[in-house]
Amino acid sequence: MTQKRRLSEEPRSIKQQQQQQQQEIKKKQKQSIPIQREDLQSLLKTINRKKLDFDSEKICSASLSKLDIYGCLVCGKYFRGCKERSPAFLHSISDGHRLFVSFESTRVVILPDEIDIDVNVIHLLDDVNKKLINDIKYSVYPVYSPDTIRKSPYRCFESTQGQLYYNGFVGLNKSTSNNIAYINVIIQLLAHVDPIRDFFLLADKKNHLNDNGLIKNITLIMKKIWSPHLFKLNVGPDELISYIMVNHSNVIKANINCDPQMFLNWLINALCQSDKRLRKILIKTCQGKLKAFAKGNKANIVPFWNLTLTLPEISMFKESKNIDDIEQIKLEDLIMAKFSLDSINNDKLQLIKDNLPQYLFLYIRRFNKSKKLSDSEFYVRNRNQTIVNFDEILTLPFSNDDKISKIRYKLISNVVHDPEKNLYDIEKDYTSNWKIQLPNEQTKDWVEINNTKTTIKNFNLLFLDETYIQVWEKIKD
Ligand SMILES: [Zn+2]
Repeated sequence: MTQKRRLSEEPRSIKQQQQQQQQEIKKKQKQSIPIQREDLQSLLKTINRKKLDFDSEKICSASLSKLDIYGCLVCGKYFRGCKERSPAFLHSISDGHRLFVSFESTRVVILPDEIDIDVNVIHLLDDVNKKLINDIKYSVYPVYSPDTIRKSPYRCFESTQGQLYYNGFVGLNKSTSNNIAYINVIIQLLAHVDPIRDFFLLADKKNHLNDNGLIKNITLIMKKIWSPHLFKLNVGPDELISYIMVNHSNVIKANINCDPQMFLNWLINALCQSDKRLRKILIKTCQGKLKAFAKGNKANIVPFWNLTLTLPEISMFKESKNIDDIEQIKLEDLIMAKFSLDSINNDKLQLIKDNLPQYLFLYIRRFNKSKKLSDSEFYVRNRNQTIVNFDEILTLPFSNDDKISKIRYKLISNVVHDPEKNLYDIEKDYTSNWKIQLPNEQTKDWVEINNTKTTIKNFNLLFLDETYIQVWEKIKD
């Protein structure tokens, strides 16, 4: 009997214990609301969006440490934090700037008490402030769903001045110390090749196991380019640039005219080596194969990342001022001059219809790389300025046993050379600037991005620029 009674009592006592525990937790929670609603609201008012820049290299402004960096949401400076006596902790006491965002975890904290807004006080925030906190976290590390990507680009408003923009069509900052336009155009170019873009946008911070610095930096910049919640209309590539400068110093040479084509080749190769999944995507979508004939008409199948097109020779010392003086050639003719589209012609490289990539990269060689040393000062001035005429659709007619079948491509990006005269010293060579022109599928406009500046362009006039690299997407028939 006693045994029975005990058994029936036991569950009740456990239940009682649980209730008691819950009451204690509730009591503790009540006591531990670490900040009053009014105080929190006035703290949130100290956030200064204009000062916030999450694109710079994450280095503590006090200790130069690169680990565990927080951004002050009041003055925008970076500090290591947030435990007692850390630079962020000390900044919160000495300057009274108490709100910080972690660049590693994206959590927003109040210092010096280390109150995590999401964990401790989210219930005290009204909708406007909840959105503000979410915008800040999103700016540090944007997160995408396949659905957001599918409906992009769309109309967005940057939150500092309320200016309209389309995500994916924002400028990249120029670096003050290096001419990085050639890097900016290639980042923009890859950000507009859908399978590559999707790989980076859908990369998840927590589940993304790849710790490779290059992948991490490119992921972040791609995520920012496509962000619908920007604080300002430009994205800074500073972190990527300093990563490359430190780890691949041969790629960035200070103040030297660098070539976007060389950077693209380097980057594709580096990305392939950095991530197996990305390598598969790149090979599947961007790599083609062609037939090259060796001596004795033996054919070799050769993979390619781009087709290099050679412009007809021009007089090197003719300085063209008038557009009518510059020679013109149709893009199709330029392709046919070097590549054959049938199985008869064995003296050219032969394109294989079934082995053309989904994304075809064309590179138009304008600089004489085998120049004599004496010409080296005028490397840019002596470039080939021939105008390449192209349409929005490129049709390649393949013939096989008298049957003609066509492959069609549509233009998805156009990188152009934009030489700048040296105003202070006319004896010096020009410097190369690079711009990219991209179609906005929503507005049907062509948008030119010149580092930070975006301009709507008339497609029919794009050919007048010095086209250098183009990406074409195969049209499914
Ligand atoms: Zn501060």
